[in-house]
Amino acid sequence: MEPTRYTIAAHRPSAHLFEVACTIDDPARDGQRFVLPSWIPGSYLIREFARHVVSARAHDARGPVRLSKVAKDTWEAGPATGPLTVTIDVYAHDVSVRTAYLDATRAYFNGPSVFLLPEGRAQAPCIVDIVAPTHAGSERWRVATTLARDGAAPWGFGRYRASSYDELIDHPVEMADFQHVSFAAGGATHDVVVTGRARFDGERLARDLAKICQWQCDLFGGAPGSRAPFDRYLFQVIAVGEGYGGLEHRSSTSLVCSRRDLPAPGVAKVTDDYRAFLGLASHEYFHSWNVKRIKPAAFVPYDLAREAYTRQLWAFEGITSYYDDLALARSGVIDVDSYFELLGRAMSGVLRTPGRAVQSVADASFDAWIKYYRPDENTPNACVSYYTKGSLVALALDLTLRDHDSSLDALMRELWRAHGATGVGVPEDGLRKLAERLAGRDLAAFFDAFVEGTDELPLASLLRTHGVALGLRPAQGGKDKGGKKANGDAPRVSIGATIGADMKLANVFAGGAAERAGLSAGDTLVAFDGLKATADRIDAYARDARPGDRIAVHAFRRDELIEATLELAAAPEDTAWLALDPDAPADAVARRERWLS
Ligand SMILES: [Zn+2]
Repeated sequence: MEPTRYTIAAHRPSAHLFEVACTIDDPARDGQRFVLPSWIPGSYLIREFARHVVSARAHDARGPVRLSKVAKDTWEAGPATGPLTVTIDVYAHDVSVRTAYLDATRAYFNGPSVFLLPEGRAQAPCIVDIVAPTHAGSERWRVATTLARDGAAPWGFGRYRASSYDELIDHPVEMADFQHVSFAAGGATHDVVVTGRARFDGERLARDLAKICQWQCDLFGGAPGSRAPFDRYLFQVIAVGEGYGGLEHRSSTSLVCSRRDLPAPGVAKVTDDYRAFLGLASHEYFHSWNVKRIKPAAFVPYDLAREAYTRQLWAFEGITSYYDDLALARSGVIDVDSYFELLGRAMSGVLRTPGRAVQSVADASFDAWIKYYRPDENTPNACVSYYTKGSLVALALDLTLRDHDSSLDALMRELWRAHGATGVGVPEDGLRKLAERLAGRDLAAFFDAFVEGTDELPLASLLRTHGVALGLRPAQGGKDKGGKKANGDAPRVSIGATIGADMKLANVFAGGAAERAGLSAGDTLVAFDGLKATADRIDAYARDARPGDRIAVHAFRRDELIEATLELAAAPEDTAWLALDPDAPADAVARRERWLS
């Protein structure tokens, strides 16, 4: 098949418009259709990238060709003579890692939001000319992408190629005057490019990432010094004032982080912010295996026109979330106490989500398209995160398998061998069957209760047999994220709601005091016990009042004043802490060593 040829140019940075042309030599005789995807793999929401297309036109060797919109994501060109080109102008002003961005300082795009797919040509090879911009300040720009070069110099503008449309759109492209460090791991070159006004210790970053990446290669390879499943990997980082997120690709990842997340020069310790950045990088890197190569059968191939339903996102995101922080500890980048703090936070997050009793992680996976990615004020009551709860199911599965002389490590290697290395998708019951084979027993009760059901995970007892104590205590104020020690200011009571800076109730928790008093999310508190409602006053009540105390509350619902009586409830013990169990028997200590080192 003749290649599909693309040209992408950043001619109009201040209008945030990419001009993207798509040319085919042999268009369909009776009218060729061109389609843009509706979603991008890794982010399970219908995004309808076509809505950012500002204008579209077509021409052939003789001149303009009629081009009509026939569906929200589809254009149809009239009969053409010889090669047919469709050109679109795409508005690109999203700093996230999911679509595209263009201004005078930086250009970035994901393929699904800019590259039209000519209908019937998904398997055709692709050629892309990335045109150098000409605006002042772009002279120092370079190109960072893992698309294969086809004439372009390393880091240069020019021609790149892909063997199919699926490959074309899985290599995002960053163009800017970025900073760059590199390191080796798994026999592959790893590049880190950082765009944005950030000062950081690049050597430190490369050293820590190298340990994490090699550890992951070794996990899947089953031996020290194992090879990565690619020759080159790219971390594309955009550092901003406030931001956090990432998207995985087959040999790269795009990350957005806050400047303070990068390691400051001269600071030796792993700060909370830097640890969060390493966790994010570790997460996306783990996806190189788990979801980019080991895929649910529902993603083989991706249907990017509509939702691709699977009940397994808890495994692809949850297992990845379990290993992202575990990899930091097991590679020696953070210590066990630091890891336990992260694990405690994940547990606390789930404990503070009443929706964990309503939605299973399998249901959360299936409905990601309309729930996880479209949260509202009732989300904590109705939903559970397949990331966070999924990571705890992964922990429980790991410890359960370890109780039967196997492990999640072994399961991941099996998934890699049977599915990742072969390209065969994982059927909906594939993970359970593999786990049962490794454990040598039926695990239906585990999967029914914790994956398809909403039973509380038996983490305390599983951790006890691995030499780790798990306890619960009430939260300490707004910033509490976990940890063992209380600071003496733990609240005694709870109002059963979260309050925003403007004294507006953000979430009202199912069954809590605020819900029982008839208060709703969106109500603005004006008075608490006859005095002006302030965050400090409410915090003071939380510390000093007793369960059962009744407080008069005034609030505005829209513009109407309402009165309610809040009967304060005992503060829930929803903060988890973990510690090495000093009384653990020798066999439990040995299991702990095998798990954490
Ligand atoms: Zn992920």
